[in-house]
Amino acid sequence: MTRLDGTVALVTGASSGIGEATALALAEQGAAVAVAARRRDRLEALATRIGDAGGRALVLEADVTDPAQAADAVGRTVEELGRLDVLVNNAGVMLLGPATEAPFEEWQRMVDLNLTGLLACTHAALPHLRAAAQGERRCSDLVNVSSVAGRVARSGSGVYNATKFGVGAFSESLRQELSGEHVRVSLVEPGAVETELVTHNRPEVREGLAKRFGSMERLTSEDIADAVVYVVTRPWHVAVNEVLVRPTEQAY
Ligand code: NDP
Repeated sequence: MTRLDGTVALVTGASSGIGEATALALAEQGAAVAVAARRRDRLEALATRIGDAGGRALVLEADVTDPAQAADAVGRTVEELGRLDVLVNNAGVMLLGPATEAPFEEWQRMVDLNLTGLLACTHAALPHLRAAAQGERRCSDLVNVSSVAGRVARSGSGVYNATKFGVGAFSESLRQELSGEHVRVSLVEPGAVETELVTHNRPEVREGLAKRFGSMERLTSEDIADAVVYVVTRPWHVAVNEVLVRPTEQAY
């Protein structure tokens, strides 16, 4: 394991769930961490926890569906923390239920955040990740949080599937383009994790999800943060391209 002392990470969607746990875990590894999301109060509480534990955090209130705000978040990270070694594109929304019954606004929200937001952050970060890879660490990391839903399409999650399959396709293509420059592009694909993610769904959809997963022991956000830490702490010559993590009891 190579610690992250002296590096700078930016985590989107850091105000709750997987992003919050990942920001804490990266800070524990020595990275200065910029934390981005819309809920400033949650980000400030997180920054205080990181600071109290001896780390450094920068709060970035940003709606990354707006490319200008995404670019500004990346720009402020580099201005205030000096560089960018790790971008974790984690912000996402999952609105399930039969696509045929869903308002178009739900489809649009998923595309805007899971694809456009991720692309906007990536586009703004690329020059800085390329520059960082020239440094002493000899690599930099772009980690995209996809999902089991980026591998297997199911009835009731078509547009979410489309966005996460899209993240997978983009990541693989970018990985090929950037491998020579030591910018590692990785996919982390969680199964069911206990977070706020399902709470954004309509009540009838939430009921269906509760039935589908029953009393299954879900993953914690920290379980996924562990996977991200594993990916970004490998020596420079080791690129972990893809990590699929399901709860033991999740069949599909
Ligand atoms: P949460 O709902 O807890 O986290 C989502 C995060 O995204 C929040 O911090 C939210 O903060 C942020 N966010 C939402 N909209 C925006 C926006 N417009 N701009 C910036 N940030 C935004 O869910 P999870 O932690 O579970 O989800 C994280 C990722 O993990 C997602 O990409 C999701 O698809 C993926 N995933 C989750 C699984 C699960 O079972 N939980 C399974 C597979 C994948 P705020 O509202 O403050 O902006």
